[in-house]
Amino acid sequence: MATQTIQTTTGSASPDELGRTLIHEHVLVGFPGWDLDAKAPRFKRDEVMARAMDRMQELLDLGVATFVDPCPMDLGRDVEFLAELSQKSGMRIICTTGAYMEAEGITHTFRHLPVEEITEIYLEEITRGVGDTGIKAGAVKIATGSRIVSEYEKKLVTAGARAAKETGVPIISHTQDASCGHDQIDLVTGEGVPAGRLVVGHSDGTEDHWYQRSLAERGAFVGFDRFGISIFVSDEVRIRNVLRLAEAGHTERILLSHDSIVCWLGRPVPFASCYEDMLEMLPDWHPTLIFRKVIPQLLEGGLGKDDIEMILVDNPRRLISGAAGAEDLA
Ligand SMILES: [Zn+2]
Repeated sequence: MATQTIQTTTGSASPDELGRTLIHEHVLVGFPGWDLDAKAPRFKRDEVMARAMDRMQELLDLGVATFVDPCPMDLGRDVEFLAELSQKSGMRIICTTGAYMEAEGITHTFRHLPVEEITEIYLEEITRGVGDTGIKAGAVKIATGSRIVSEYEKKLVTAGARAAKETGVPIISHTQDASCGHDQIDLVTGEGVPAGRLVVGHSDGTEDHWYQRSLAERGAFVGFDRFGISIFVSDEVRIRNVLRLAEAGHTERILLSHDSIVCWLGRPVPFASCYEDMLEMLPDWHPTLIFRKVIPQLLEGGLGKDDIEMILVDNPRRLISGAAGAEDLA
């Protein structure tokens, strides 16, 4: 059944209110233990809030009305920061419950909990709120590693699917190296959640059109959600593959985003000593890129304005409201 109300960090919204939606962007992200790194740049909350406000304003000016931040609960998620940002900026922000993949998340606590208890934890965050904040998760985040789904990840994906089934919230995934998307669909649908309630995230990290197409053919949304991150594939490849998927008749399964981050907590990845270094390596990586560069090229490549509207407005709404999943069941 389609969800009638959607939980945002500042309360509930109706599906029609969502408008232009970026389905996979971040405000804060930090690997577990980031706050123990005394050598890392300090987190200056006020400065970061000001930067995030500027970012939201830029997006509001481009007509974006909803910003989904699927930060896993163990990667520096701060729902109070998101709620404050949403209140001050006027951007609707949706946060998620669900933990990250085994290699880079907090594995110890959840490793010892049975799937039933993890499901209950996720349900608690969706129905009652995160901690004592009262801020409810509006989606579930699931994550799998490269090529192989570990037992730990299977347990967490199963818990996420069960929580999504019970509440009707959508599932937003992380995949590594554009692999295991079909495993995610298998696990999610195996729990009785239609594939149309899942976006297989980071599916754009490959040149392989047929991988993307096979996900869409099974009814899942295909996340072309790392525009601007040219270390995996170039944006030219992403644009070509979006066009191919649309030509194959799957425009209604395409979602665009950047996986951008306003502030990386601690030090990001081994190849960058700080977030500024990383941004220097990825000059296009900014959540306005789709509007400035990608959409004009999609229009040149043959998509119509109505296709763009479908991708930016209708598809996120159909995913988040559960309408796409309901079609699968009809
Ligand atoms: Zn992400």
